[in-house]
Amino acid sequence: MLKIKNLRCCYGNIAVVHTVSLSVRQGELISIIGANGAGKSTLLAAVCGLLKNWSGEIEFKGRPLNGMSAPAIVRQGISMVPEGRQIFSPLSVMDNLKMGAYTRFKKDGKSRVAEDLDMVIQMFPILKERAGQLAGTLSGGEQQMLAIGRALMARPTLLVLDEPSMGLAPKIVEMIFSTIQDLSHNGVTILLVEQNARAALKIADRGYVLETGKMVLQGSADELLVDDDVKRAYLGKD
Ligand code: ATP
Repeated sequence: MLKIKNLRCCYGNIAVVHTVSLSVRQGELISIIGANGAGKSTLLAAVCGLLKNWSGEIEFKGRPLNGMSAPAIVRQGISMVPEGRQIFSPLSVMDNLKMGAYTRFKKDGKSRVAEDLDMVIQMFPILKERAGQLAGTLSGGEQQMLAIGRALMARPTLLVLDEPSMGLAPKIVEMIFSTIQDLSHNGVTILLVEQNARAALKIADRGYVLETGKMVLQGSADELLVDDDVKRAYLGKD
């Protein structure tokens, strides 16, 4: 579904992602793990059209994404849950969710968007309780649910998540990861970027390890969870 070949991403003249290749097949849940500053968010920014300064190949469903705008990429079926949530704080919870569907209203009409709103609210009932509340007043966990809900409102075939566990209490992280796994079981293809390597690999089919902009290891999630280098560098103690 997503094929990345020899991706190189730069800020100005400085390359921070070097000749990275990876693939995500339909229905897979893929985790990219790596330390702070490894280039994970930069890679996702290139996929989602938020970073233009890249070379190499990014193909989604056989179509090159080179030069495509971020809204056009959303319309192709890729939707992102950004690092730090990036919800629209001054807007209500409901308006945040509706914003997630803004590329669809013309094509799909109000009734299909309303169906998806029902689906999101069933998944996260707290968002219904908070529908009229300003999004900026939600707790961190609620904001993460809102960010996921907003991304789902675009009806993605590939959901891309950047560090969904960031800054959240362990119980909430567990709940968010279990939701991601449920989405995957329901047929959404998922590309997940995480510093919480153990949690990310536990729910993944396959994983990639990014170190200072280079892909140094890849394999099934089960293989990576028992790999000595991965254990030493990313998993710590059980
Ligand atoms: P983190 O988990 O901390 O977000 P990451 O793996 O997602 O880390 P990136 O945010 O992609 O890493 O950063 C990769 C490198 O690019 C880092 O060295 C970072 O300092 C640099 N970088 C990121 N954004 C910019 C920017 N806008 N301008 C210049 N350099 C940047």
